[in-house]
Amino acid sequence: MKQSEMLIPTLRENPADAEIKSHQLLLRAGFIRQTASGIYSFLPLGKRVLKKVEEIVREEMDQAGAHEMLMPALQPSELWKETGRWNTFGPELMRLHDRHQREFALGATHEEVITSLVRDEVSSYKKLPLVLYQIQTKFRDEKRPRFGLLRGREFMMKDAYSFHDSYESLDKTYEKIYNAYSNIFTRLGLNFRAVIADSGAMGGKDTHEFMVLSDVGEDTIAYSDQSDYAANIEMAPVVTEYEQSDEPLKEMEKVATPDQKTMAEVAEYLNHPLEKGLKSLMFKVDDQLVLVVTRGDHDVNDVKLKNLYQASIVELASEEETRQVMGAGFGSLGPINVPEEVDVVADHAVKYTVNVSCGANEDGYHYVNVNPERDFEVKQFADLRFIKEGDPSPDGKGTIKFARGIEVGHVFKLGTVYSESMNATYLDQNGKSNPMIMGCYGIGVSRTLAALVEQYHDEDGITWPHHVAPFQVHLLALNVKKDEQKNLADTIYETLTEQGIEVLYDDRKERAGVKFADSDLIGIPLRITVGKRAGEGYVELKDRKTGQQDEVHESELSARIQKFLNKEQ
Ligand code: ATP
Ligand code: MG
Repeated sequence: MKQSEMLIPTLRENPADAEIKSHQLLLRAGFIRQTASGIYSFLPLGKRVLKKVEEIVREEMDQAGAHEMLMPALQPSELWKETGRWNTFGPELMRLHDRHQREFALGATHEEVITSLVRDEVSSYKKLPLVLYQIQTKFRDEKRPRFGLLRGREFMMKDAYSFHDSYESLDKTYEKIYNAYSNIFTRLGLNFRAVIADSGAMGGKDTHEFMVLSDVGEDTIAYSDQSDYAANIEMAPVVTEYEQSDEPLKEMEKVATPDQKTMAEVAEYLNHPLEKGLKSLMFKVDDQLVLVVTRGDHDVNDVKLKNLYQASIVELASEEETRQVMGAGFGSLGPINVPEEVDVVADHAVKYTVNVSCGANEDGYHYVNVNPERDFEVKQFADLRFIKEGDPSPDGKGTIKFARGIEVGHVFKLGTVYSESMNATYLDQNGKSNPMIMGCYGIGVSRTLAALVEQYHDEDGITWPHHVAPFQVHLLALNVKKDEQKNLADTIYETLTEQGIEVLYDDRKERAGVKFADSDLIGIPLRITVGKRAGEGYVELKDRKTGQQDEVHESELSARIQKFLNKEQ
């Protein structure tokens, strides 16, 4: 395609609000533009890459026995009410009314729509298993849309859903799709890892996330330094065995701690290490107030809290609400003399603490020499903290280390949560009615595109792997006013295009410096520069990624390009 006819608005400077490389480069190289916060247009170059990523996803999904379809983005609220998610999904679900004041949601995900569809169309075990997928726009009113395509409010997702008459059948499909995902991310050239995850708002049990390893990732992966264990930090169970201290128990005392609010301030003021203090946080777990106690050097894992209560919503209580029941603000909360309506739960490590400090539920005061169970009661001890680097690996092999990851894919075994609430049943061989067993499988297609740029760039721009690059060859005519350059470039453009090679032809009346800079920014894998030696039929061929270049006669170009593309397969 001719660059003079395309919309590729490149920018020399980094846009002020773009913090990470993929966001900066996709904007600067003219792949995307922001329309509103978290909402983007894909310009022609961006759309070409998106299509290539989608094509790889399609090929592997089809290969795994899934069938493509397309569901509506606009979904009636009745479906979401059947599963209860009209309430539990919360403000992330974009809602609107039609002219008759009927409520709708913009699809954040499609379990409700697909389950209602399959419920109406499939009634016999003979049609199972059934695996359907779509590639479509999703809408989520994210609290913090950021990092460009990584966390948008409107984004492209591939979502697949499977329906089964047995758990064995679900296991088989889960494994097939898990393998398809591994193929997809391998073919895309991404450095990724599949990790054990939490099923979150989706309900259900077995689930893995596919994480692209990257420092800008919002997720932390806990992995073993000695085995292939890897889990999202939210999920990794703590298996540390704490030792019983032989320190003699001391008399509890109340002490003034004026203006000392954080754990660190209090520990310093009372002159003890962080782990000698208890941290108490007030949560609202659905409608129940829960005071969660951990050791001062540990952090509460709200996903574990949610799972402990099998709750749908877990959030920190407001300071006002907390003060009302506890009589003190956040800085002075503790588990002693807690009103009955508040549950006190504690992390396992708390049980083994001796002579620790904690808030006195009175502003500006703490207790010291507190001993759990002697001085306060705990409704339940449970694993409620985040795993830490250095903790033993949950599989018993090695110790835990952390890495950052971008979640690009997610596979879940849903079981019967949706089919039961929506009454999606089938008749088995004996004519008995059973709820369908389900799985669901997502890939963030637009997020994957950004993850690719995070892994493929250098200081000058993007360095696309060729199977997802918007074009394979960038052809630059340095001075289009010179006939020999223009003519040779035109010929090369026609020849390569006829051979099915995707060529972006920079035929603009721009300075050579501008063309080189734009070309580096856009990041097409091979560059042909038609310049001074055009009269003799010589051009320069450059590998964007390695920077390797040499002079090649036009007659050898096709063979050289084919060789490069084959090597890169
Ligand atoms: P996250 O924890 O990042 O919010 P999620 O668990 O909400 O992700 P899923 O509901 O599993 O995501 O959606 C499937 C896939 O869609 C994710 O693996 C991710 O790649 C992609 N995705 C989710 N939210 C966004 C978003 N706001 N912008 C871009 N892609 C997204
Ligand atoms: Mg999310």
